[in-house]
Amino acid sequence: MTIRNAGIHRTNVGDIAITALNDGMFDAGTGVLVGIAPDEAERLEVAAFRKLPPRITISAFLVEIGAKKILIDTGSANAFGPAHGFMRAGLASLGVAPGDISTVLVTHAHIDHVSGLIDDAGAAYFPNAEIVINAVETDFWLNADIAAKAPEAAKSSFDLAARCLAPYKDRTRLVKHGQSVMQGVMVQHLPGHTPGHSGWILASGDDSLLVWGDVVHMPGIQFANPEAGMAFDTDADMARVSRRKTFDMAATDRLRVAGVHLDFPCFGHVAKVAEGYAFVPDVWVA
Ligand SMILES: [Zn+2]
Repeated sequence: MTIRNAGIHRTNVGDIAITALNDGMFDAGTGVLVGIAPDEAERLEVAAFRKLPPRITISAFLVEIGAKKILIDTGSANAFGPAHGFMRAGLASLGVAPGDISTVLVTHAHIDHVSGLIDDAGAAYFPNAEIVINAVETDFWLNADIAAKAPEAAKSSFDLAARCLAPYKDRTRLVKHGQSVMQGVMVQHLPGHTPGHSGWILASGDDSLLVWGDVVHMPGIQFANPEAGMAFDTDADMARVSRRKTFDMAATDRLRVAGVHLDFPCFGHVAKVAEGYAFVPDVWVA
């Protein structure tokens, strides 16, 4: 039996505390990639000293602003089986109860981000939380016409989004690009992976951080070749444009970033290199 490390890592953005909570990880294979040949993807993964098949890590983030406890995404709960859903245990080990969470900032309505919103009975897991989500995202996933016309394989994604968001119907705040959500938190629309896929910019004093959701799923491949996307991108071309723009902005502005599928503990910078980009993980600070 393998002993699992505790996937909890706290850091700061000015006066804001942010804690990455690892939810699980899985071997994905190159079959989920688009925009890159499988053998080229494998070459990049091996060149980055990683094992095949490529692995996807899932995390969520606890953000503490003053007395407020805020989550960014909620992991996959039990949707992916017993090797996932550790976000909840991570929160509990920090002494944070579901009722302590005042806000959940949802990057997008995919299974590995919203499943943790509900309990096994389908009720709100966070009894006191409001949801904040880009209006473009709910306009897509909660639109009955779009859902009815979706390909058969995508129907379960619409069902899941509706099921996870429904208990929060009366406490959902819809926001748009550039909007301030609360002191220190702003919406950054990064469309393509899903229509309303959004990051959250945290800012305090001179410090800032972009939590970019799913701009990257496979760090060993997509930094080196940003053309590589995911088969489950709603619009892979638009996702590619968002990825390139975000990498370019982060590298040019030396903006610190965090991502749900970056290797734990998820924080670092993006550097422009001769071919493509490279991720430079944060140096650990006590
Ligand atoms: Zn995801």
